[in-house]
Amino acid sequence: MSLGINGVKVTIDREKCERSGGCFAKRACPVRAISYKNGKILIDGSICLGCGKCQEVCPNKAISVEVK
Ligand code: SF4
Repeated sequence: MSLGINGVKVTIDREKCERSGGCFAKRACPVRAISYKNGKILIDGSICLGCGKCQEVCPNKAISVEVK
């Protein structure tokens, strides 16, 4: 998944993502940009700050955040 807003690029490795209801990344996001729909994690690029909290807390290292 790539996002163009503010030069932030968030990539989800769907092989690593457990799609857990108790997702650490979802809980850590300060702007609630992370949600799940039909079992897939979604990141709302219109509000994502590129802070990297989701990347820090995901135990499976399924998320990477780049800010250019
Ligand atoms: S980078 Fe920060 S604002 Fe963006 S989805 Fe991850 S935790 Fe939320």
